[in-house]
Amino acid sequence: MQITRNTLDTNLGPSDWFAGSVYLDPVAAPAGSSRVSATCAHFTPGVRTAWHTHPNGQTIWVIEGVGLCQRRGGEIEVIRPGDRVFFEPGEEHWHGACATRFMAHLAMLQVDEEGIPANWLEHVTDEEYAAAPPIA
Ligand code: MN
Repeated sequence: MQITRNTLDTNLGPSDWFAGSVYLDPVAAPAGSSRVSATCAHFTPGVRTAWHTHPNGQTIWVIEGVGLCQRRGGEIEVIRPGDRVFFEPGEEHWHGACATRFMAHLAMLQVDEEGIPANWLEHVTDEEYAAAPPIA
C-alpha cells in the first residue's frame, strides 16, 4: 500500500492538448504491471481538448459543471454530472467545457505497451465548437 497525500500540485495542461486553461490533478499513475492512469481535469469555460485518440480507449465521468464531447463525424453531445462517456480505442474525439460553464471530469484509461495514454491531433476549431447545442 502506498498513500500519496494531497501534496501534488495542480498543473495547467499543455497548450498543444488544450485550447485554453485546463487544470489537471493526477489521481492514478501506471506502476509495475498496472497500466491504469486517472486524472481529474477542470476545464474553464469554452475550453476543450484538441482532437485525439486513446490506444486503449478512455472513460470520462463528469463531476461538475456542463461539458461537451464529440466523436469524429458525430454530433456534439452535452454531458452533465454523473454522465459517463466511453471513447473506443482509436476513436477520434474531443471533450471539454461548454462555452459558459466550468466542467470537471475524472478521466480513466490504460496506457499502451509504451506508456502512451493518447495520440494528439489538431485543435477543435471555433467553427466546430460553435456547433454545440444549447445547454438549457
Ligand atoms: Mn479523450
